[in-house]
Amino acid sequence: MAKIAINIATGSLQKEEIIVGIDLGTTNSLVAIIHPDTRQPIALKEHNSSSLVPSVIHFDEYGNVTVGEAAKSFLVTQPQNTIFSAKRLMGKSYNDIKDNASFFSYKVIDDSNQTMVKVQAGNKFYTPAELSSFILKELKQRAEHILKTPVNKAVITVPAYFNDAQRQATRDAGKLAGLDVLRIVNEPTAASLAYGLGLHKEEEKTIAVYDLGGGTFDISILKISNGIFEVLSTNGDTYLGGDDIDNSIVKYWLQQAGINEDELKVNKEFAQGIRLQAEAAKIYLSSNDIFETTFNGDALSITKKIFEGLIQPLVDKTIVCSSNALKDAGLTKTAIDVVVMVGGSTRVPLVKESISNFFGKAVNDTVNPDEVVALGAAIQADILAGNNKDVLLLDITPLSLGIETMGGLMDVMIARNSKIPNKASRQYTTQKDGQSGMKISVYQGERDMVNDNRKLAEFNLSNIPAMPAGMAKVEVSFLINADGILVVKAKELRSGIEQSIEVKAQQDLTDAELEKMLLDSITHAKEDIATRALVEARTEGEQLLETTEKFIQKNTTHLSKEEFMQTAAAMQALQLSLTMNDKDLIHTKVEELNNISRPYAERIMDAAISYAMRGKTI
Ligand code: ADP
Ligand code: MG
Repeated sequence: MAKIAINIATGSLQKEEIIVGIDLGTTNSLVAIIHPDTRQPIALKEHNSSSLVPSVIHFDEYGNVTVGEAAKSFLVTQPQNTIFSAKRLMGKSYNDIKDNASFFSYKVIDDSNQTMVKVQAGNKFYTPAELSSFILKELKQRAEHILKTPVNKAVITVPAYFNDAQRQATRDAGKLAGLDVLRIVNEPTAASLAYGLGLHKEEEKTIAVYDLGGGTFDISILKISNGIFEVLSTNGDTYLGGDDIDNSIVKYWLQQAGINEDELKVNKEFAQGIRLQAEAAKIYLSSNDIFETTFNGDALSITKKIFEGLIQPLVDKTIVCSSNALKDAGLTKTAIDVVVMVGGSTRVPLVKESISNFFGKAVNDTVNPDEVVALGAAIQADILAGNNKDVLLLDITPLSLGIETMGGLMDVMIARNSKIPNKASRQYTTQKDGQSGMKISVYQGERDMVNDNRKLAEFNLSNIPAMPAGMAKVEVSFLINADGILVVKAKELRSGIEQSIEVKAQQDLTDAELEKMLLDSITHAKEDIATRALVEARTEGEQLLETTEKFIQKNTTHLSKEEFMQTAAAMQALQLSLTMNDKDLIHTKVEELNNISRPYAERIMDAAISYAMRGKTI
């Protein structure tokens, strides 16, 4: 496989280029490389500062963006314009996150449907991928500043449980930041690599990766054999981490001082101040027996013993998850060969001891737990660069493979640089009532609009039985065998009808053509993503108009005259915005129409319609 690098500054191709490893975390993010001289992985940092960049983004009133430590103080002063935990929104619809909506102190748009979430800061709307791209840009700049060379290629890590949509959103974020994302790697896999696991072909091991970060807990059971990592099971708690440890100390102090917990809600500055003290106490107690300080003129203290008592229930929860992960993998504790500790919160001695006791063996904790994932990503990057001659590079797909979806967008099924053989599948649904056929067009390439990619094949799934729009369940699956032959199949799951086609995936593509396709995807990244955002906004607007239209027709008698008039006006405004090239305007009009229809829709919506409103359409 040819290795092609693109210098974004000059647009020229380079043969040798650094590939960085990036841990894009919920709380902190960082970038690492393999040091060219020592061949050891190192996390990049400016003199005397931390390698960690807090995953916080602040937008000022002029739309200027600040990322990292400098953005953190705005969490208290300007919560509505300061975005944290954007990773929790990646590849999610509002329905996916609505149970935790109160967690976000900024505005997450409630579309009352299944399109991807957006965040509003000022009068602009941002997708989670756009938000994450600001963090990635910051990391890219940091790396370029320190290495004094352009950085255009990266390996980025994601949690093992991330689904296709979440992985795709992460790739989009990379592209938007001007990074060619060579591979998305699972965080536990990266952490294992940082401990040198999986680097030898004959090695066979079962690994438990315990990752307790700032706001999330993940436990993954992996099996390595023949240099391939397989995820046997994942478990965890997406709202359990260091923040909860801090909160338990805060609560203890308030109780000691006889202060009501409501004070935290009323006095944000006090809340933030005492939280910072709690975090300092937690960190100090990792190596000391008592923490003492004064805060607002009052003495605060906590002993290690009391601290451990406070957090025991949290630790116990992680052990229950770990035991469930083992059960799901069909294994007992004794089958685990290695336990790897990841995440800043595993520095707490009680955490380490409890996990070590649970698994009945010493844990691997010699690599810095906040850096271990990024360091492993750097090792993976080095392997992809072909620098690590001991590791065999498996056959991979040179370009992404996908199908055309609404508005001519490319929906990637198997991403570039995926291992061969491989398979992937996704469900789609019909757009129109009684729709009997669905065209499946298969494309190869990195651009967002299929027209800019190569068409490989096309076929029609016909004879779909008549059903209302959104009822049909068409599963499209891609299977690439070891010889690179791609079989694409479409099956309507309710009726069982199916149709498939065989494609030779790498049809006569020369290295030069391949290089050009890759270069185009990076040089056009900005406009591609803008076009995609516009097409998605339009599709969303059109679908909303259609469903609203249907809904009011069916329920005319249940609407007041005023509701009817307001809806008609909002629909007209939305219709007009669809003719303009302004995605933010469309989102605003969608919001307005939603705000008008939501109250009466909730009042009269029946199950059938809410069901019909679901699902992706081709
Ligand atoms: P994420 O993967 O969620 O981005 P990290 O792995 O960077 O998060 O972990 C961040 C958390 O680690 C924070 O809650 C921080 O307070 C905690 N942390 C960092 N150092 C220590 C320490 N010495 N003792 C306990 N907790 C720590
Ligand atoms: Mg992490």
